[in-house]
Amino acid sequence: MNAAVSFVEVGATRRRSVPDMSDSGPLLDVHGRVHRDLRLSLTDRCNLRCVYCMPATGMRFEPRANQLTADEIVRLARVAKGLGIVALRLTGGEPLLRRDVVDIVGRLAALGFDDLAMTTNGTRLAALARPLADAGLMRVNVSCDSLDPERFPLIRRRGSLPVVLEAMDAAEAAGLGPLKVNMVPVGGVNDDEVESFAEFGRRTGRTVRFIEFMPLDAEGAWDRSSVVPAADVLARIHARWPIEPVEAPGDPAPATRYRYIDGSGEIGVIASVTRPFCGTCDRMRITSDGAVRNCLFSDDEASLRDILRSGGSDRDVELLFRRSVWRKLPGHGINDPGFLRPSRSMSMIGG
Ligand code: SAM
Ligand code: SF4
Repeated sequence: MNAAVSFVEVGATRRRSVPDMSDSGPLLDVHGRVHRDLRLSLTDRCNLRCVYCMPATGMRFEPRANQLTADEIVRLARVAKGLGIVALRLTGGEPLLRRDVVDIVGRLAALGFDDLAMTTNGTRLAALARPLADAGLMRVNVSCDSLDPERFPLIRRRGSLPVVLEAMDAAEAAGLGPLKVNMVPVGGVNDDEVESFAEFGRRTGRTVRFIEFMPLDAEGAWDRSSVVPAADVLARIHARWPIEPVEAPGDPAPATRYRYIDGSGEIGVIASVTRPFCGTCDRMRITSDGAVRNCLFSDDEASLRDILRSGGSDRDVELLFRRSVWRKLPGHGINDPGFLRPSRSMSMIGG
């Protein structure tokens, strides 16, 4: 059965001989990609101001009344699970700023996702790791962009390296491993630390994921010259400690994995800018104010919160998810001459 949603209605380019959106079965886009991964932002607020994400001052946040409540989050996640979402990642802003985060995690865990993970800056994780694990969180990615205690607060503008290192230990002790460490190398800022992070990962058994700087910073300072290409990261690491690709056919994960030939673990690179992986993307997002987005880089949004707050049914929510995913573009277009940055920056969407 079809939902009779035409391309004209959903605002995408009209094309002939493309089927209408299916209103049952897997969560499909018009290009045939099945969506199984949901990134859910718990808040757009943050206690840090990383140079590649937020401005030092003047960041504007959504009024709290606009943010999804715990009940709304759980309801949306339940509907999404019914549509075939198997992996849920909580993010933000900083998800651990929400006072009800442990309660939310417990209720989401009860829904039975195959994977329930969180990306955090680590500043509040040391104390929360055990309660989160007890509530059912499975694993965390901790962001850390410098292993130099003096440089760390310059990049993140607040916070301290020892606190984040302690949080990583606490997360592992609580069973939130295997731990991944997200590092964004930015040219002229911290790109000299690629080898230090590789050594850190080899020593601790943590998988460091080098993420290319994307044009999603709130200040609009991104330019191509500050992107450290994944190929350069890999070449530098390979020169010190030889690596080889980990074969993962059909893996939709954004990170391309490499292992050290001497058996000392793995690294990942997320080459969104230089080697886009849109062809296998299976992710959709919900912002903290309840908008469903089909891509980090697209302004195509629709408000799930408005449906919930106007008495809409689960079926209404389902159809909005389906419409959003269906009209996803084939790629993010960062490298196209006419690329326009999305109006929301990373912390407002949920990375
Ligand atoms: N506050 C949490 C944190 O920092 O881990 C979660 C949200 S943050 C937006 C999620 C991830 O996005 C982090 O690993 C962060 O380093 C990354 N990130 C933020 N802005 C980015 C940008 N412009 N380009 C690439 N990665 C970015
Ligand atoms: Fe906050 Fe994470 Fe953005 Fe840094 S990257 S400002 S920690 S949301």
